[in-house]
Amino acid sequence: MIQNPVQNPTDKFVEMRHRPPEEAKFFWNGGPVEVAERTWFSSLLSGVTAFETDEGLVLVDTGTTAFGPHLAKEIRQATTAPVHTAIYTHGHVDHAFGLASFLVGGQAPPRVIGHRAMPARFERYTRTSSHNRSLNARQFGGAVDAAETVDFAAPAIPPDTLYDDELSITVGGVTFELFHARGETDDHTWVYCPDRGVLCPGDLIIWGVPNAGNPQKVQRYPWDWAVALRAMAAKQPRSLAPGHGGPVVDDAPLVQRILLETAELLEVIVERTVEVLEAGSPPHVDVVRRVELPASDSPWLQPVYDEAEFIVRNVIRFFGGWYSGRPSELKPSPRRDVANAIAVLANGASALVAEAQRLADADDLALACHLADYALEASPDATDVQTAVAAIYERRAEAESSLMAINLFRSAAAYAREGRPYA
Ligand SMILES: [Zn+2]
Repeated sequence: MIQNPVQNPTDKFVEMRHRPPEEAKFFWNGGPVEVAERTWFSSLLSGVTAFETDEGLVLVDTGTTAFGPHLAKEIRQATTAPVHTAIYTHGHVDHAFGLASFLVGGQAPPRVIGHRAMPARFERYTRTSSHNRSLNARQFGGAVDAAETVDFAAPAIPPDTLYDDELSITVGGVTFELFHARGETDDHTWVYCPDRGVLCPGDLIIWGVPNAGNPQKVQRYPWDWAVALRAMAAKQPRSLAPGHGGPVVDDAPLVQRILLETAELLEVIVERTVEVLEAGSPPHVDVVRRVELPASDSPWLQPVYDEAEFIVRNVIRFFGGWYSGRPSELKPSPRRDVANAIAVLANGASALVAEAQRLADADDLALACHLADYALEASPDATDVQTAVAAIYERRAEAESSLMAINLFRSAAAYAREGRPYA
């Protein structure tokens, strides 16, 4: 059920932010929930599913290092079986880092399965750890300071069993089908247990618009993602144990709707973006403005984390290079020189700020932010400019719906208060 285009997306997003649908489960934490016989799901920030078999547990995901103990305690209320096999759906810190907490009685690390691309992900995190901390300070903290941010690296217990396209395992007579799909990451696995009708999609389902646009992170693959969601639906799962948010228990029609509507949303965004690219290959920002953004009333497709506009950007990036299409941006002047030239024309940075404030008061926050950027870049040390620009970005954040937009604008305010425009 995809509707489009919304007349004024900003209004709709503001409304949703302040009145999230009651059925929305993006922020659901709890457990253990019995999603099928001898199968339990718990979530704290991210989800863990434990399948008890006669040979031990098959765990799908393990939480973060910090939340692993809590998740393990919940799962251990339901089963004391040792871990036979762990499957990491992908190499993010909230899925592949909590396994040690599930090992009891001095148990040695069990078999750990991940996709072939996972080790390269951990190498990239190690190579770019400061960069990643800065990105995550902005994305998750709305902040400048990266010191408190979790360091992305390799998990203490990395996968010892890698596979390429598909893998089927049987543990204690229970079969688990693993499938690789590029989606949020290039190392993503989704797991189906046909004997129990349970689907573990990892972060391919998160009770929100898929994290397929993420402004600061590496390439996502919404077209492959949609194919995977349709393949999951074809399995006719009865229960859904997602990467984030609450489970769906024994409700096959609801699981179908969630999977197929999410696939359709991604397909629509990809198709419309490619159509605009094909119609003259305009500058990137003009593509973004020309794509009609789909929106949905379904509680599993609200822009609580990522949002459609960012997915459009991600599609543009995949199908072209970094050149924005604006000629001045091919080999640009330093931004400070541009800002100074505009400030001179405007009769000073204070005049730019005043006009930015007027635009913000007239509810054109997007345009206000352009002028605010120039003002801060022209006069980064002026405290009145810092304060005014920070206030504009705080207002911008307040008007947004997705965590990524909210926190990037909040971080812009934090940078402004420090007199540090993005360089
Ligand atoms: Zn996740």
